[in-house]
Amino acid sequence: MRPCSRVAPSSPRSPRARRGIERSHLTPEHRAANALVGGWMEQAGLRVRQDAAGNVCGRREGRTPGLPALVLGSHLDTVPDAGRYDGPLGVLMAVAVAERLGRRAGAGPLGLPFALEVIGFGDEEGTRFDKALLGSQAVAGTWDDAWWDLRDRDGVTLHQAFRDFGLDPARVGEAARRPEELVGYLEAHIEQGPYLEAADASLGYVTSIAGARRFVLTFLGEARHAGGTPYERRKDALVGAAEAVVAVERVARAAGTIATVGRVEVEPGAVNVVPGRAALTLDVRAATDAERDRTWDEVHAEVRRGARGAGSGSR
Ligand SMILES: [Zn+2]
Repeated sequence: MRPCSRVAPSSPRSPRARRGIERSHLTPEHRAANALVGGWMEQAGLRVRQDAAGNVCGRREGRTPGLPALVLGSHLDTVPDAGRYDGPLGVLMAVAVAERLGRRAGAGPLGLPFALEVIGFGDEEGTRFDKALLGSQAVAGTWDDAWWDLRDRDGVTLHQAFRDFGLDPARVGEAARRPEELVGYLEAHIEQGPYLEAADASLGYVTSIAGARRFVLTFLGEARHAGGTPYERRKDALVGAAEAVVAVERVARAAGTIATVGRVEVEPGAVNVVPGRAALTLDVRAATDAERDRTWDEVHAEVRRGARGAGSGSR
């Protein structure tokens, strides 16, 4: 479950300046985290490398060299203004496991019937390119070349970001692991919801992993001067978008799924201009892909109906 958010204290500084922890994919902070965690992995007796997708990986052989590996780990990237445990907890616990097993084994091989690997994934949150799990998709071998053209908010493509980070986009396929190389994957993750606390339990295990789908919904209206445009002549994109936000929650609540609008951008964004364009992000997730997709279909249908009513178009 993720991500957690906390309310930032109000501050006269810019929103960016008051952010706490922010470590996004293929940034200097990502590089620093890989170096730091790689050092800890080495101290724990792991052989360290950075894979072709920018994930930091450590390995220690089992009873004999070359055995399939049990992989432990989590992500090292964060959402903006993140908590310190989301992701790193799972990486640090994995390093601690390696350290403890290593101490027991001394200089010799781990007496395990499999190798032990720890991975700190470079991207899980998808904060920078609005596409989650870029690190683990590469490891899973499900990379899609269409992602190279994704851009961050500064217009930098994923392709360029790879190069700036010192990675070769043409070699991303080398990060993929074959199923026969692995025996399993185990991730400890901090719970970001209230469930464990409510149950007064310190530990739980997940019974399903929600696969999220993300969308950008754009509402097109007509930007006009606020003073000179009566309601019957308005095509207010933001009113259409606002009704969509409410519809998203209504549909998802009824379906027992989770759908979230996390960002709204309005143009031209002036105090006295009827918004001509509004774009909102939508994140939909559920216990099963079928439930999730059904929720999206319903949201989509409802939003289209509502947008026509508000006099704006959606796409
Ligand atoms: Zn997380």
